[in-house]
Amino acid sequence: MKRRRKLSPIKKWLSIILIFSVIILGIHHLFTRNSKAMEESVISSEIYPGLNLKTIKQETDLYTLFINQPVTENKNIDEEINEWIMEEKEDFKSRVKESKKVLKENEFTAHLNIQTKTKKLADKIYTLELESYQISSGANGSTKIKPIIVDLNTDNILGPSDIFSFDENLISEIKEIVYRQVEKNSELNSYIFEDLLKESLYNYEGWKISVNPESLIFSFDQYEVAAANVGVVTIEIPMDQIYSYLNPTFIKKLNLEEPEKQTELKSDGKYIALTFDDGPHPKVTPRILKTLEEHNVKATFYMLGNQVEYYPSLAKQVLDEGHELGNHTKSHKNLTHLGASQVKEEIQSSSDNIQNATTSLPKSLRPPYGAFNNTVKEVSNELDLPIIMWSVDSLDWKSRNVSAINREVMSTVHPGAIVLLHDIHSTTADALPSLLKNLENEGYEFITVSQLIELGELEGIGPHHRI
Ligand code: ZN
Repeated sequence: MKRRRKLSPIKKWLSIILIFSVIILGIHHLFTRNSKAMEESVISSEIYPGLNLKTIKQETDLYTLFINQPVTENKNIDEEINEWIMEEKEDFKSRVKESKKVLKENEFTAHLNIQTKTKKLADKIYTLELESYQISSGANGSTKIKPIIVDLNTDNILGPSDIFSFDENLISEIKEIVYRQVEKNSELNSYIFEDLLKESLYNYEGWKISVNPESLIFSFDQYEVAAANVGVVTIEIPMDQIYSYLNPTFIKKLNLEEPEKQTELKSDGKYIALTFDDGPHPKVTPRILKTLEEHNVKATFYMLGNQVEYYPSLAKQVLDEGHELGNHTKSHKNLTHLGASQVKEEIQSSSDNIQNATTSLPKSLRPPYGAFNNTVKEVSNELDLPIIMWSVDSLDWKSRNVSAINREVMSTVHPGAIVLLHDIHSTTADALPSLLKNLENEGYEFITVSQLIELGELEGIGPHHRI
């Protein structure tokens, strides 16, 4: 009893302190909830050396705001980023102010969100793609985009005049390339306002460009050049079309490789397509690939699903070296003996194997033995695989003889021909160097089956397949 009485003053004090703490915490809590609360923190990046990310978060009764702002160690770069973000913030806040009444009436919280997509282009060179989305009245939001290429080695922002080798003529040519790219994209084309696009591209210093090894991308804000429902517009120009316009210093900085020019097909060209069936074969296919590479020839390989399943990396290698892949069914059955569902299974599972191995789908179907009927036609239509036969048979499977293969092909070859060969016989690999030489001597150029079809459809060259 005595001891308890002795402790009671301390208890009293403790209670008082506790009550005060609760009150203070409560006030603090109320304060942070009801007035502007701002948090800022900097997260340093391990993945993007030289870049940090600043997070800005703000909440009021009227709006919420969340910004991820990239920060470098360079004042000028940071200023340019900051300027754009400040503009977005001010624009947003003034819109909030304007629609204050509406927001309150509708109990709608306006929102601004700015995010950065970072892409590494080379050592300490990045594309920072700032994207700002704001919604301030409960109607439609709007999205703006600003790509910035920063070079932290030289502490510079790389703008259009660093990216391109500029003169007046080149600028208009680049604009033409952009217009053409829009025309090619029929879906986008119908939404683009041509006059707005021209206006946007008028001054090259304002071009918003990002880049990657495969392409150069022009970006436009929502509403800037197209109907609102399209959102932000990006027009991607493949590198092979724009490479020659790039500034050599920029190319060197980014270590950009000159892309191989797509063969420009001439309507009167002496083109043929070499096709290799029944592979991939672990011994023969690599030999064929080597010879094709030495002659810079692209061919088409009709692969069997079962072979691809066993040698997926070989299938991938064929595709990676620029050749085209076709479907030769899973197991080389005569499809005319099968019902529709079996035909479908034979074709589909081969496509699946090819896709698993290469992440690409085959472009066409060659039925084994060239045998097909209406069922095969219907299934191939359904699977969007045109049936491709051949017009020149090397008979390599029969003769197994280098000079016989050469004789057979050279006596029957013609412009627009599709030549049947097999990458499972070593004699075919033996014959290929001399065969290519003979064909080259006669002026033949080699393209893939898809290119030949395209040419045939466009220019009426043929017949290249027996259907
Ligand atoms: Zn075959």
